[in-house]
Amino acid sequence: MKYFTESEFNEFEKMDPKLLEKLDQLREAYGYPIKLTSTYRSPDHPIEAKKSKPGEHAYGAAVDIACVGGEATFKLVKAAIEVGFTRIGISRKNNFVHVGIGYDGAPPITIWTY
Ligand SMILES: [Zn+2]
Repeated sequence: MKYFTESEFNEFEKMDPKLLEKLDQLREAYGYPIKLTSTYRSPDHPIEAKKSKPGEHAYGAAVDIACVGGEATFKLVKAAIEVGFTRIGISRKNNFVHVGIGYDGAPPITIWTY
């Protein structure tokens, strides 16, 4: 990876290489440093365990990115769409953006808010 180190990820080896490639592209397109707030989560992580089935963090197919303010969020989401992320979640309340590439059984193209 060009912009990230393995230590920024929880269990780096479980991250999907396609996600990592897109994340570098996103950093390039966005143009500002990116702070990851959540990466791989095991299926028994409290957030995943309360879902009916584990989400894409449990597939290493998504990360959450710290993002404060409307302008930064707009620019980050715009860049994420440009580089091909097709599953995006936005939390203005908790200041992060989720970007994912999906997994079997998940809607391949979607956007949501928290
Ligand atoms: Zn997420």
